[in-house]
Amino acid sequence: MAEKSYLDLKREIWDTGRCSGCGACVAVCPADALIFDEGEMVVSPKSTGYCKQATDGVICGACYDSCPRTGNQPSETLGEYLELFAAKATFDVPHRQSGGAVTSILANALDEGLIDAVVTVNEDRWTLRPSSVVITKSDVLLQQAGSRYSWWVPLLAALKNAVVERKFKRIAVVGVPCAVQAVSRIRASENDLLKPYAKAIRLTIGLFCTETFDYTLLIQGKLRSHYHLEPHEIRKLDVKGKLEVLKQDGSTTIVPLAELETCVRKGCRICTDLTAVCSDISAGAIGSPSGSTTLIVRTSTGKGFVDSAVRNRKLEVSPGVETAAIEKLAAAKIKKNSRK
Ligand SMILES: Cc1cc2nc3c(=O)[nH]c(=O)nc-3n(C[C@H](O)[C@H](O)[C@H](O)COP(=O)(O)OP(=O)(O)OC[C@H]3O[C@@H](n4cnc5c(N)ncnc54)[C@H](O)[C@@H]3O)c2cc1C
Ligand code: SF4
Ligand code: SF4
Repeated sequence: MAEKSYLDLKREIWDTGRCSGCGACVAVCPADALIFDEGEMVVSPKSTGYCKQATDGVICGACYDSCPRTGNQPSETLGEYLELFAAKATFDVPHRQSGGAVTSILANALDEGLIDAVVTVNEDRWTLRPSSVVITKSDVLLQQAGSRYSWWVPLLAALKNAVVERKFKRIAVVGVPCAVQAVSRIRASENDLLKPYAKAIRLTIGLFCTETFDYTLLIQGKLRSHYHLEPHEIRKLDVKGKLEVLKQDGSTTIVPLAELETCVRKGCRICTDLTAVCSDISAGAIGSPSGSTTLIVRTSTGKGFVDSAVRNRKLEVSPGVETAAIEKLAAAKIKKNSRK
C-alpha cells in the first residue's frame, strides 16, 4: 500500500494549483476527512483535521492514489479507439447537448439492467447550480441531459454514496476528462482501499472538455452582473469558440471567451486531455454535424454498451466523423497548457 497521505497531496497538488477539482480524493477518503468549501473559485479540497495515516499512523494513501494529477498527464489527441461514430438518440431527449447519445446509451443500460446507477452532474434548472448525483432511473436521466460548463462541483464526490452507502455493484460514471483519469487511476491501483470502487465501476463515459468555469464567477458574477442574465432565464449554455447563452425566450447572447478568462478554473490551465483518452467511450460535439454526438468507442466494454443501444433501436450511428477537427482542437489544448 502507498504511504503517502493527504499532506503529500496538499504539498504536490493543492498548494501548487494543480488540482482539477475532480473530487476523487474526497470520495475515497475512508475517514471522510476531506471536503470542499462552497464559494467563489474554491480551487482544491481541504482536510477537516483527522487523517488515519497522518494522525494515527494507519497506512492509507487512498486520496493520493486516486488523484489524476499525481502521475504523468495524458498528451494524446484522439487516443486509442476501436470505432468512431456520429450518433443520435432515436427518441426525444429534451435538454440534450448534442445528439443525446450519452443519455441514450445510459438510459438503455439502465433499462436493460446492464448498470444499476449513473454517477454524474445535474443542475438545478432555477439557479443552474450543479451537483454531483447518483441516478438510477432512465426517466430521471432524461430530464438531466445537457452539459454543465459552469460546472464546478466535485463530480466524483457522489461515488462514495453509490459504492459505500448504497452498495451499487454496476456503476457508470459520466465525467470530464480529469474525472475519467481519476477513475482510471482507481481501476489500475493496487491500493486495497480503492478496490471496492474499481470493482463497482463498469463503464466510464468521458465528455470532451477544453475548460470549465467557476459557477459563482460565471453564473452569479459575469452573466448576472455584466449581461443582466438571471439563471432561470437561461435554457442552455454552449461553448463553440465563444459562449452561447440560449435564453428561455429563444434569443441568444454571445459572450467572447476572452471575457471569461478570469472565470476559468485554475486547475484547467494545466490540463492536456481534450477527448478523455482514458474512458471506455468519449463523447463530444466537435467532429460531427450539428445535432449529433461524436462517439469515440475505445474499449470492448464501451462497444458492448453502444451495440446494445443500437440493437434496441435507441441509438443511431453513422460514419463520417471529421477527425482532423478534433485533432486540431486537442493539439491546441496540449500546446497551450503544456507550457505552464
Ligand atoms: C464542461 C464541459 C466542456 C465541454 N467542452 C466541449 C468542447 O470543447 N468540445 C466538444 O466537442 N464537446 C465538449 N463538451 C461535450 C459536449 O458538450 C456534450 O456533453 C457531448 O457532445 C455529449 O452530448 P450528448 O447530447 O450526447 O449528451 P447528453 O445526452 O446531453 O448527456 C450529457 C450527460 O452528461 C452529464 N453531464 C453534463 N455536464 C457534466 C459535467 N460537467 N460533468 C459530468 N457529467 C456531466 C449529464 O448529466 C448527462 O448525463 C463539453 C462538456 C462539458 C460538460
Ligand atoms: S485533482 Fe481530484 S483527486 Fe487530485 S487533489 Fe484535486 S480533487 Fe483531489
Ligand atoms: S479542462 Fe481538464 S481539468 Fe478542467 S474540467 Fe476539463 S478535464 Fe477537468
